[in-house]
Amino acid sequence: MKVFIEEIQDYDFQRIYSFLKESTESIDLWEKLKTKKTILIKPNLLGPYKPEKAITTHPIVLEALICLLKEKGKKIWIGDSPGGSIKVNRVWEETGIIKIVEKHKIKLLNFSEGGIVTRTSPNHTFTTSKYFWEADAVINVGKYKTHSLTYYTGAIKNIYGIIPGLRKSDYHRDNADNTKFSTVISELYNTAKENIVFNILDGIWGMEGDGPSAGIPRNFGILFAGESASAIDKIASKMMGFNLNQLPYVKSSLQNEHISFKDIEFPEKWNNFVFKNVKLKKISLFIKIFTKSPKFFRKIFKNLFEYFPDFNDKCTLCNICVDSCPVKAISLEKKNNKLKIDYLKCIKCMCCHELCPHHAVYIRKSFLAKFIIK
Ligand code: SF4
Ligand code: SF4
Repeated sequence: MKVFIEEIQDYDFQRIYSFLKESTESIDLWEKLKTKKTILIKPNLLGPYKPEKAITTHPIVLEALICLLKEKGKKIWIGDSPGGSIKVNRVWEETGIIKIVEKHKIKLLNFSEGGIVTRTSPNHTFTTSKYFWEADAVINVGKYKTHSLTYYTGAIKNIYGIIPGLRKSDYHRDNADNTKFSTVISELYNTAKENIVFNILDGIWGMEGDGPSAGIPRNFGILFAGESASAIDKIASKMMGFNLNQLPYVKSSLQNEHISFKDIEFPEKWNNFVFKNVKLKKISLFIKIFTKSPKFFRKIFKNLFEYFPDFNDKCTLCNICVDSCPVKAISLEKKNNKLKIDYLKCIKCMCCHELCPHHAVYIRKSFLAKFIIK
């Protein structure tokens, strides 16, 4: 299984285009797709963020892919379902996607509309966008970032966007800890991969720290591509300093695809390469401990080594987090017109932290947790 890797320091259209052309041609992708007319591009359009924030797939990467698909005579769709109750038109606008879609006259699809298809896997039943299955094939284009809940997000986790809008919250509510949530991600990817023919991971600018949306943009200067999202994530996460035991959803996705590290072919020079001092958020262990603890335990010890989502004064009361919280733990306190969280209900899914477009949700750490959670 090949993973293509290219060092590209900035969003240089020509270099990105050449990399995509060479990598797709070297695996005969266009021959395999000769009977497939409609290709759906699935980018990461998490929320209404400008490309320079490095939260969403950069429009130049998408444009290079669109140009390549046009040359091959394909009909192109592009679509996603941003998280929570975010207004999709704002997402199309801020991420720069709308300009590209208009320029190239291609169809832009909101996965929260247009119908659903239900698919089952060993442990889950997935409600997915009908568009994803109506396309003849899908090209998945993720973003290279750290993640407060799952440590890392790249190609595999990008597929979570095929679950329409607020329905994503149900999976968070029913699978609160990282281990359970990881089975959701790996089983969803395993189900969806029958329609995914190629994957690209945009790490030219990625994110470290409080990813996937409140972290710090970092110029990793790298682009990945290949037929397997799990092979890409294995190599890309290793380069951030992770091992597979920290990333159960990557580990099980590799197992489902029967790929071991020795089966992955990638350029020799990256074999032992790790980016220096990537800032990581190691809160998953705490999620595991505290969501499994009885309520009385949480109550007694939370002031000692607990962490919480909390609000800062950037909050505009837009209500996105209120509507998106899977357990309805957030409400408006009328007396001071501020949001409050019921911490006994909160399952620490960090959806509020991930989805707030104003970075108004931060992770408040108790005294002990400050020493343990870096
Ligand atoms: S914290 Fe405030 S600004 Fe952020 S999503 Fe919630 S209501 Fe909106
Ligand atoms: S308050 Fe935030 S972290 Fe807690 S359950 Fe709701 S969305 Fe998840």
